[in-house]
Amino acid sequence: MLQKTSHFMKTANLIGGEWVQSDSGDTIDVTNPATGLKIGTVPKSGRAETKRAVEAAAEAFKSWRKTSALERSKLMRKLHDAIMDNQDSLAELLTMEQGKSLTEAKGEVGMSAAYILWYAEEGRRTYGDAVPSPWADRRILVTKEPVGVIAAITPWNFPSSMLARKIGPALAAGCTSVVKPASQTPYSGLAWGVLAEEVGIPKGVLNIVTGSASEIGDELCENPLVRKITFTGSTEVGKVLLKKAADTVKKVSMELGGNAPFLVFDDADVDRAVEGAVAAKYRNSGQTCVCTNRFIVQAGVYDEFVEKLAAATRKLKVGPGLEEGTQQGPLIDEKAVEKVEEFIEDATAKGGKVVSGGKRHELGGTFFEPTVIRDATIDMKFTKDEIFGPVAPVYRFEKEEEAVEMANDTIYGLASYFYAGDLGRVFRVMEGLKYGLIGVNEGIITTAEAPFGGLKQSGLGKEGGHQGIEDYLDTKYICIGGLGL
Ligand code: NAP
Repeated sequence: MLQKTSHFMKTANLIGGEWVQSDSGDTIDVTNPATGLKIGTVPKSGRAETKRAVEAAAEAFKSWRKTSALERSKLMRKLHDAIMDNQDSLAELLTMEQGKSLTEAKGEVGMSAAYILWYAEEGRRTYGDAVPSPWADRRILVTKEPVGVIAAITPWNFPSSMLARKIGPALAAGCTSVVKPASQTPYSGLAWGVLAEEVGIPKGVLNIVTGSASEIGDELCENPLVRKITFTGSTEVGKVLLKKAADTVKKVSMELGGNAPFLVFDDADVDRAVEGAVAAKYRNSGQTCVCTNRFIVQAGVYDEFVEKLAAATRKLKVGPGLEEGTQQGPLIDEKAVEKVEEFIEDATAKGGKVVSGGKRHELGGTFFEPTVIRDATIDMKFTKDEIFGPVAPVYRFEKEEEAVEMANDTIYGLASYFYAGDLGRVFRVMEGLKYGLIGVNEGIITTAEAPFGGLKQSGLGKEGGHQGIEDYLDTKYICIGGLGL
């Protein structure tokens, strides 16, 4: 098992097809959150290495942009197959550095492959237009071309699939990339380099640099050769990158933080809602941007929902991700645990009651009990802030309009969920929610075929769906005159 995994565990940057260390030789330690033990190191790179990676990508772009969409699609199909052939090893690597259960890690790797396949197909359909001309002797063409070098910065919570959503459309569109994975989970990012090499993607088309976030970020934002920045991470860092990218007027896509509401109405199927709630809250130990942050439940089913959710959480098996049967792994680090403890302390001081969990797990380290808090009120900290941990606050409401208002009362607008039976209500609530993603009677909704992306301060642009490739393309209008017709 480890031999296969270590085949993907690269401890170097990939620049212009060469695996290289940082100029200084400095490194960053990578640890396994389940054990706290060091797994290995990766280069601590800065501006100089990033600049070289951008130049390598710019050089590779000259020929990559000229390959046909079909040629790129064939390579991407090979990439898809290589991911699926190595799903188990890639999942193990992911679990080792990130902590999530092996089942979830396999799911994430499968999702990465799905994005690659989807864009292998979509890349062949980046149609332009031939527009009816208002002039007899001129013709109008609209074409789509790759934007050029793109830079991708990704977080630790989905270290494989967040890159798939960026590498996929970039490859398909004919762009070349410089990628910076999160420092806590760099190996799943570097594994993309191994896979790309193995399927024959030309040198320099995909470059990967690990190291100092601010130095790498500054170079990517300021270098005029980079034509697009695509970022997944916190709203705070997203705003910094938006400002920095403004100087060279780059295209930007931002997949940022969330504060997902999960509404349960009196006419909902409560058992189905509880099932959806567990998936939408405790997946990845609550560390996803689409994880429910606030359960907002109507008075008539409030007690039933709370009891059933608490009972379901007591059954969740907490443990190391690599252990058979584990459903909830550790949190990413000690800081994440302290943040969760702070939320619980604040809520209980303001009248919230812990119904299940509420403290560090007996396994120690960064393991935390799946937690449900009833009688949540809007003055509690998690009403506004992203929890990013396995804590479910349950708020109560009486009227439909009140629930929608509460749900929308946030700066975020990424994912939302609601459970209801009445069709009129379903449409009213669906149209009332100011969110980019809405799950109606469903708790897990992400798929490569649909556009993923937030409204308000949750971001700009879409990933997935046919929309996801648009930001990697420039639209050009061409007027052909003097035709003498
Ligand atoms: P983060 O702190 O914003 O980090 C994300 C990435 O940005 C990491 O690679 C990080 O590098 C890098 N970074 C940090 N500061 C930077 C800077 N000044 N310049 C350039 N890059 C910089 O977020 P996180 O804690 O890893 O991830 C959790 C957040 O991501 C949550 O808010 C979550 O909601 C959001 N998220 C959103 C989506 C979505 O699709 N909307 C998906 C997943 C996660 P280092 O690792 O080296 O610090």
